[in-house]
Amino acid sequence: MRLSFHGAARTVTGSKHLLETGNRQILVDCGLFQGKRKEAFEMNRRLEGIDPEAVDAVLLTHAHIDHSGSIPTLVSRGFEGDIVCTHATRDLANIMLRDSAHIQEFDVAYVNKKRIRSGKNPFEPLYTMDDAINALQYFVSYNYNRLFALHDDIKLKFYDAGHILGSAMIMVQAEGKNILFSGDLGRKNLPILRDPDSIDLPVDYLVIESTYGNRLHDDIENMEKELAAVITRTVKRNGKVIVPSFSVGRTQELVYALHRLFLRNQIPDVPVFVDSPLSVNATSVFRLHAECFDRETHDFLVREGDPFGFDSLRYIQHVEDSKKLNDTQDPMIIISASGMAEAGRILHHLKNNVEDERNTVLFVGFQAENTLGRKILTGESPVKIFGEPYEVHAEVARIESFSAHADRDELLGFVRGLKQEPEKIFVVHGEEESALAFAESLGEISKAEIYVPEMGESFELN
Ligand SMILES: [Zn+2]
Repeated sequence: MRLSFHGAARTVTGSKHLLETGNRQILVDCGLFQGKRKEAFEMNRRLEGIDPEAVDAVLLTHAHIDHSGSIPTLVSRGFEGDIVCTHATRDLANIMLRDSAHIQEFDVAYVNKKRIRSGKNPFEPLYTMDDAINALQYFVSYNYNRLFALHDDIKLKFYDAGHILGSAMIMVQAEGKNILFSGDLGRKNLPILRDPDSIDLPVDYLVIESTYGNRLHDDIENMEKELAAVITRTVKRNGKVIVPSFSVGRTQELVYALHRLFLRNQIPDVPVFVDSPLSVNATSVFRLHAECFDRETHDFLVREGDPFGFDSLRYIQHVEDSKKLNDTQDPMIIISASGMAEAGRILHHLKNNVEDERNTVLFVGFQAENTLGRKILTGESPVKIFGEPYEVHAEVARIESFSAHADRDELLGFVRGLKQEPEKIFVVHGEEESALAFAESLGEISKAEIYVPEMGESFELN
């Protein structure tokens, strides 16, 4: 068996791990690279190291676009196997892949307008809406915790990863070995979701993420306290709180947290707007999948009703309604995508609010290198938005305890909790510094051979 790494190798995006057995090729995740635009576009177009026609199946750990976003490309290049995931992941992928196609088409149309004017050939989008819809035909979904046969010689089991709705760690049994892919590993006590499952089978080879492999998070218990403090002081200044947030997962957690704070009168009664069509759709998928909720959220449902709806909350679909938010000067909370402020309506809200010192830009998620989010977070000013410079006078705040990724100690705790010591551990899905630091920490607690694969690197397993 061979395992090779074609994405999320010493970086956090583009997850693609290829497992080759004697007669099968199994691709675990098929994510989009994000970051520097041109570079990412090229890498996403090339799909280097992957022959779509030769891949027998795709196993999808969860619906985030850095794990799923290249599936339409794979299918349009001749992949014809099953794309296997949990039920909730399939439903989320349905909306996320179409949203991603919309962004691809929209971005290219924008660039092409300029190219055509200057007599250059127009670019093709990475994929189209038709490609995304076509890819959805290949999805096959299963429940957690059931061992099932993918082919006669390969079995699979999904464990709840507690990262986003539907997220799974995937155990692959092949050639007498157990290979576990952590996907993105969540945390205990995250709102809404169940805690990550413990693994009831021995693991021979482990592929583990390391997004926060060199960092520790604040306690989750502090999250609501910090959120209440930021909102209260901004509203006192008559400001707006602008929150760039991933549409899937983080937005629903935020809404649920705000709902609880309002019920306890711990934040002032200001309007909350979720301004992202994808968030609106994702929230309806959340409502459908109570099987993924933890006990507390079930109880909340019974006691208070919909966790994702309350009186002062409005979901915004249409652009006109989004634009109207600029006209009112009253304090409010605006939650909008994308989460790293790279695209989408959040750019308009930042443009309109970042220069006013009464306002707050609140970060609640990971900000990758070279993104606008990272620039604002690290104090850059002015920042460019739609090509124009804007001075950052607004307060810049960050709540890390929202993170849906395990931190260093939680990742180490996960490895320690395995039934037996793995033979080999591959550290992926972290920026180089973080992945290397985590590998070193792992070395202190584990006798496994530990690798931090480079892009394209390949390993013999047995
Ligand atoms: Zn993720």
